[in-house]
Amino acid sequence: MSQSDLLERARRLFPGGVNSPVRAYLAVGGDPPVMARGSGAHIWDAEGRRYVDVVGAFGPLALGHAEPSVVAAIQRAAAAGGPFGATTEAEIRLGEMITERMPRVERLRLVNSGTEAAMSALRLARAATGRELIVKFQGGYHGHSDSMLVKAGSGPLTLGIPGSAGVPQAVARQTLVAAYNDPDHVEALFKANPGRIAAVIVEPVAANVGVVPPAPGFLAALRDLTSAHGALLIFDEVITGFRVARGGAQELYGIAPDLTVLGKIIGGGLPVGAFGGRADLMNLVSPAGPVYQAGTLSGHPLVMAAGEATLKLLSPPVYEHLERVGARLEAGLARLGVARVERVGSLLTPFMRDEAEYAALHGRLRQRGVLAPPSQFEAWFLSAAHQDSDIDLIIEAAA
Ligand code: PMP
Repeated sequence: MSQSDLLERARRLFPGGVNSPVRAYLAVGGDPPVMARGSGAHIWDAEGRRYVDVVGAFGPLALGHAEPSVVAAIQRAAAAGGPFGATTEAEIRLGEMITERMPRVERLRLVNSGTEAAMSALRLARAATGRELIVKFQGGYHGHSDSMLVKAGSGPLTLGIPGSAGVPQAVARQTLVAAYNDPDHVEALFKANPGRIAAVIVEPVAANVGVVPPAPGFLAALRDLTSAHGALLIFDEVITGFRVARGGAQELYGIAPDLTVLGKIIGGGLPVGAFGGRADLMNLVSPAGPVYQAGTLSGHPLVMAAGEATLKLLSPPVYEHLERVGARLEAGLARLGVARVERVGSLLTPFMRDEAEYAALHGRLRQRGVLAPPSQFEAWFLSAAHQDSDIDLIIEAAA
């Protein structure tokens, strides 16, 4: 079936023709592609056109598409039945792999999306501190729960909307917004709201305004400020977790958050989230404690199998590969002189002069068989499957 026919049918069914806003390509123009399949670093649309994929499904595919051992693990899990509405060994194995790699996550709860994980971590922080206010950063994206849609990055930023309709003012007022990489701003918020801030939630590498690495000392300042004022520090590592380093951004920058929010890679491409951290805090989560949280499909065997197979392959040489291909793409794009490139490992953004220029770059790449994220504010994701030849093709297409 032709792509335009499929789009027509999708538009009749889904608001804007999509099930997540950025997929509509409003910021770059043109019809969005309808995808059919993927293998390694490549994807094919419904009309059989091949692209080098730098969207990477917005983060989860650290190994690329249809990694054979991930596919086999999912197939085995599917044949074994479930979910069971009961604990399985697969959950325990994935949980152990996460805590081993990220020792600050002493205890965790598996959920079904990053949104859910962040929302639950904030509820826990409020319960643990007996305080209501949360500090987030401008352009920080932590999913689409009511309190986090204040000055959010990702889709809201792409669409140019400062928040969302339908969020009660009483809820939005509980969220304070600071400028990223500006610890003085955070300190001022603590001074203006003594004893009222439960937590600071931050993407340790901002990746929903395009990629913005933390300024030297910024994360350490957040650690000091939260500790000094009796608030919790929450790292949202939905994007950075198991991508920027084996132990995530908390390992890379050597900062210990109280709570960590995870998603994407730990599900190997299937729907997932997790929140975890200090055992004394996690013991407040139901049924161990009074903070309610639950999920019919949480810890789903297929997701656990995909996550385990993915983390198993993410060995130190794979991180070296991710760094190498990331650096090659950064250098190649920088050489063209078209953009200022920001990068942490396999996560990068070429910042164009404005959004129209980004749209032009996106169109040029698409025409030459490279699919980049359809917004200046979504990070480019490379995977272990990207080879030098793929990177060189991206650079040639951008030239
Ligand atoms: N936190 C961050 C840092 C994210 O980038 C995202 C999604 N891109 C989320 C939370 C929400 O995750 P999900 O889309 O799985 O709900």
